[in-house]
Amino acid sequence: MTVPLLDLEGQYRPLRADLLEAITRVCDSQRFIGGPEVDAFEREVASLVGPAGDVHAVGLSSGTDALLVALMALGVGPGDEVITPTFSFFATAGCVVRVGATPKLVDVDPRTCNIDPAAAVAAISPRTRAIIPVHLFGQCADMDPILDAAKTAGIPVIEDAAQAIGATYKGRQAGSMGTAGCFSFFPSKNLGAFGDGGLLATRDERLAHEVRLLRNHGAEPKYVHKRVGGNFRLDAVQAAVLRVKLPHLARWSAARRRNADRYDRLFREHGIADRIMLPVRAPGCEHIFNQYTIRVANRDAVRAHLASVGIGTEIYYPVPFHLQECFAPLGHRRGDFPVAESIAAETLALPIYAELTESQQAEVVSAIAKAVSA
Ligand SMILES: *Cc1c(COP(=O)(O)O)cnc(C)c1O
Repeated sequence: MTVPLLDLEGQYRPLRADLLEAITRVCDSQRFIGGPEVDAFEREVASLVGPAGDVHAVGLSSGTDALLVALMALGVGPGDEVITPTFSFFATAGCVVRVGATPKLVDVDPRTCNIDPAAAVAAISPRTRAIIPVHLFGQCADMDPILDAAKTAGIPVIEDAAQAIGATYKGRQAGSMGTAGCFSFFPSKNLGAFGDGGLLATRDERLAHEVRLLRNHGAEPKYVHKRVGGNFRLDAVQAAVLRVKLPHLARWSAARRRNADRYDRLFREHGIADRIMLPVRAPGCEHIFNQYTIRVANRDAVRAHLASVGIGTEIYYPVPFHLQECFAPLGHRRGDFPVAESIAAETLALPIYAELTESQQAEVVSAIAKAVSA
């Protein structure tokens, strides 16, 4: 039995007719940029992220562009520092450099792999212009200490919620707690488009307006440019696809949680839960398991064994930011952020999609048991 890391087909098949109808609707309307599908999708996501009706949602071209445009809209630029974890997907820190600012990297919590809140607070300096906590793998970072310190210092918080749509922290939605929340609809995210897509959510109406301006070259009205923005728009076809999928999101994320609990149980039943570290559910957090990542000492050998029996895995992420060649100007060295370095050496993401079956999971776990006992 082969178990792929991802199986987008399993989600697509039952929705195929609805998805094709939605795409056809856009084609028939010939409205490909902006228009009613994008507007409706923004309203629908706004009411998910801010059930009280106080959140504005702006559809964007990707999660990366959501982060970039958030920094642009907040006026972050040369001479400014932005605090980010050293362990995340590249875009989190890449965007900071793209606006000319400097990432101020901090280590992560060894249990959750999310930004260490004490380290984030300690990194605040007079030059800090934003903090970007990441809700990695689908579980919210410990936000309260960060939000409190940012409020005291008057610094905006940009949540990188690319992997966490629908996750909650003490009852609050990911992406609703900071000044802005950035989401991605990359196909492998819990809510995946048929291409690239993203969204920025904010309670700040002026910020939402600024982001709407920037996503369209800063033009208002057409051909009159108040700012230098870019083309950061969400396509109508992607919005239509996402609107078909959105009503299923909560069910899919619940299925991922069920699968995660099942993995935990299977690892315990195999008696190997002490040889690997299972993902930690932080108190007060509802995890949406965009990734189920274990940590295991001889990770590369385990991964090679799994590949040899047809089980797909991935390493999120093998190289922390402070050891990336492109960030060499930051002047970091191996050893600067030991927690992130050890996670990067040990982390392994297993298949976790909603459609995964119990027998596939049993297969994955027995293959891992074999590899760690060898
Ligand atoms: C996917 C992802 C992004 C970027 O989103 P794209 O839509 O792929 O540009 C940013 N941050 C994190 C943590 C991500 O997982």
